[in-house]
Amino acid sequence: MNASFQINDPRAAIEADRAHVWHHMVQHKPFESADPRIMVEGRGMKLWDITGKEHLDAVSGGVWTVNVGYGRERIADAVRDQLVRLNYFAGSAGSIPGAHFAQALIAKMPGLSRVYYANSGSEANEKAFKMVRQIAHKHHGGRKSKILYRDRDYHGTTLACLSAGGQKERNAQYGPFAPDFVEVPHCLEYRAFEQGHGDLSGADYGRAAADAIEAVILREGPDTVGALCLEPVTAGGGVITPPEGYWPRVQEICRKYDILLHIDEVVCGIGRTGTWFGYQHYGVEPDFVTMAKGVASGYAAISCCVTTEAVFEMFKDESDPLGHFRDISTFGGCTSGPAAALENMAIIEEEGLLENTSRMGTRLMGNLHALAERHAVIGDVRGKGLFCGAELVSDRDARTPADEKRVQAVVADCMAQGVIIGASNRSVPGYNNTLCFSPALIATADDIDRITDAVDGALGRVFG
Ligand code: PLP
Repeated sequence: MNASFQINDPRAAIEADRAHVWHHMVQHKPFESADPRIMVEGRGMKLWDITGKEHLDAVSGGVWTVNVGYGRERIADAVRDQLVRLNYFAGSAGSIPGAHFAQALIAKMPGLSRVYYANSGSEANEKAFKMVRQIAHKHHGGRKSKILYRDRDYHGTTLACLSAGGQKERNAQYGPFAPDFVEVPHCLEYRAFEQGHGDLSGADYGRAAADAIEAVILREGPDTVGALCLEPVTAGGGVITPPEGYWPRVQEICRKYDILLHIDEVVCGIGRTGTWFGYQHYGVEPDFVTMAKGVASGYAAISCCVTTEAVFEMFKDESDPLGHFRDISTFGGCTSGPAAALENMAIIEEEGLLENTSRMGTRLMGNLHALAERHAVIGDVRGKGLFCGAELVSDRDARTPADEKRVQAVVADCMAQGVIIGASNRSVPGYNNTLCFSPALIATADDIDRITDAVDGALGRVFG
């Protein structure tokens, strides 16, 4: 398939971008001598940039977002129809697509019943944090305001979300942060030895890692802790899948100390791991679930903070003029978001994309394991559904993290081959060395093989 776009004056677009656009997460100095990358068109799993180069996108829009693939006209049509009918009214009122999407979503989330709309993952997480804080004020005499987050997890870019951020490289130089966010240790079995748990594996390590959360709760005082916020599978921190035993123990601990469990499904939500939500693999019963990226696959900006009827009921005290949730988000009431999300969900159901994700995820994991047999630099392969990672090490026995520059060289080599892959977040050795794969849920066996073939070639060239 060829790109259908016409670019009248690519040079003018590049120069306008170079002169005026500040790209996300990017060091701009190199753009003084090289062109910034501009993406122009997408169809299915493929993307074309402004030079006309075709790419196979193995990271769903760079940040695990475009779950149903590019160029979905029926989503665009639904958004257009809705915008023409009613583009906007504030979220203090309801909307037809907002009502129907909330109902459809809740049908996938037994035990939960209320959807609060916002625009981004960060914002959805802040909503949950604010609900926890208001519950603390209203129902616990101001205690239980502490929110626990985990080392290596990421919950967003605002200052409150960074306060709950376990990725030091993202937080550096942006403090001071909000008080009463407290870190708990991460749970990465491959690096358990770094936590003094080298002798433990599987469920034993999973339980020990969860026990470490309990130790923090006891240190802080259980009556001060309101919520625990975790990613079901840690994304940018290195595609960290939990071992058996971890989640049941986490749930037990939350119940024991009356701590609300907030699962950040901003990446895993809406099919990425082969179930509607990542937590559903582990039998967890959360109090809050936040989601964003795959909710409308990037066709519209929408995020959701979903909670239980019990939490919702706590905000209904009419005797207190301040007792309801006094939060607003201008664009959280936009109708195009839920209109896109409804179509996105329908596509996933009609095309059997959850099943495809499980099948193709198994293939991707199999291919990565096969690569690990031939490339000693692959120390660990992790994943769930179409959300996989390969951790690179320079010494398999010592598990010494591979040098970041060489990890990035593998990403660049794949890019040169026309395959876009990702790598875990930069700068901190031990956490910047995982190659990340999150193709759209429509990926075929050929797509998966092409991705791992590109990695095979790149590893050979970069690591020999
Ligand atoms: N939570 C997780 C797990 C994420 O990976 C991200 C973004 O990558 C966010 C929250 C923040 O989402 P957003 O960038 O939409 O604010």
